[in-house]
Amino acid sequence: MQTRKEINLTLTPAFVKQYVNGYPLIFPEAFTDISKLKEEGSIVNLVDQNKHFIAKGYYGRQNKGYGWVLSAKKEDKIDVHFFKKVIKDAIDHRKMFFDSQETTAFRVLNGEGDGMGGLTIDYFDGYYLLTWYSIGIYTFKKAILEALQSLVEYKGIYQKKRFDTKGQYLDDTDDFVCGEKAPEPLIVKENGVNFAIYLDDGAMVGVFLDQKDVRRTIRDKYAKGKTVLNTFSYTGAFSVFAALGGAKKTTSVDLANRSRAKTEEQFAVNNIDPELQDIIVEDVFNYFKYAVRKKLSFDLVVLDPPSFARSKKHTFSAAKDYTKLLKEAIQITSKNGIIVASTNAANFDMKRFKSFIEKAFKELGGKYRIEETFSLPEDFKVSEKFKEGDYLKVVFIRKIN
Ligand code: SAH
Repeated sequence: MQTRKEINLTLTPAFVKQYVNGYPLIFPEAFTDISKLKEEGSIVNLVDQNKHFIAKGYYGRQNKGYGWVLSAKKEDKIDVHFFKKVIKDAIDHRKMFFDSQETTAFRVLNGEGDGMGGLTIDYFDGYYLLTWYSIGIYTFKKAILEALQSLVEYKGIYQKKRFDTKGQYLDDTDDFVCGEKAPEPLIVKENGVNFAIYLDDGAMVGVFLDQKDVRRTIRDKYAKGKTVLNTFSYTGAFSVFAALGGAKKTTSVDLANRSRAKTEEQFAVNNIDPELQDIIVEDVFNYFKYAVRKKLSFDLVVLDPPSFARSKKHTFSAAKDYTKLLKEAIQITSKNGIIVASTNAANFDMKRFKSFIEKAFKELGGKYRIEETFSLPEDFKVSEKFKEGDYLKVVFIRKIN
């Protein structure tokens, strides 16, 4: 076995305090000698200019930075024993979920929120899904798997590689890692509602687990008797919860062709007749134009766009275009109706998001009230030291006039 490189990386004085205080992301501007980092997966010791140890982590390039701090203890070795400790703490934090009959799909380890940036582990009714965000973290695969396997009983383990697969560590291309293969679909539950999950069918498995509190709130407090428009609907998860909450009708709009069959399936596994719901495969921006022309209006409109998307006619960036999107939505929301505005864009915060809402209503001369807001749920643990890890922002807006 090749031995892992260990490198000292020197902090510029201005950044020492930040890392002493536990900041987990290794970013180039903080160091005088970042160019020393060459091999993904190298162990990095952060030191000050007097070579005093501050913290250790690993080198792994991802969009966010150059790697993550894993420990403030010099004597810690980054090995199976270390990963066992981290994963066990993460599992203990989700005890309530493991014990639940109503929810069998949730996040077990949320990257830096659980002290291990670059990796997430999700649970789907006995199956574990590991998502690797850099080649660097992927070099620890053997030790991390061994740690996980020693801690949990599992039916099977799957993985997603969310890094450039031209990397040298591509020893397997399959998402299936070990154990039994999952049925396709695998039926899991979230607050009593079924989801059809495909663990080995591309980058996404069928549901985004971070919206669980929002879906439940829509079902329990806002859906009854309402007409619901779900935009950027993907597999229709919000529509399913709305329908189960007694919505009069749901309309799901997504431009991906496969969204129709996927949404029909999510309705079907919950004994909802898809024939009684509308599923529309179209660009949301075209649909808004159509809806305005036809003078349609909805009591509840869900907006959950990707942070960035390019379709044939439009480029959408949440940071730049959310106000415009809201203005479209406001026009087809009934008086006293609700807009659920959601974004997972990490490049702006809740305050800024609320300013988009303010601007949209102001420009249309309308009044609104914020009913409630959400960020990441309990299982998506966020580090106090890295608040920007809490990317989810959801606002329930009541349109007053
Ligand atoms: N709201 C979904 C997740 C949305 S994922 C849920 O709760 O599960 C983003 C989705 O937006 C993708 O399915 C993608 O196909 C769709 N999308 C991106 N740009 C679009 C556009 N211009 N019009 C309609 N759908 C779009």
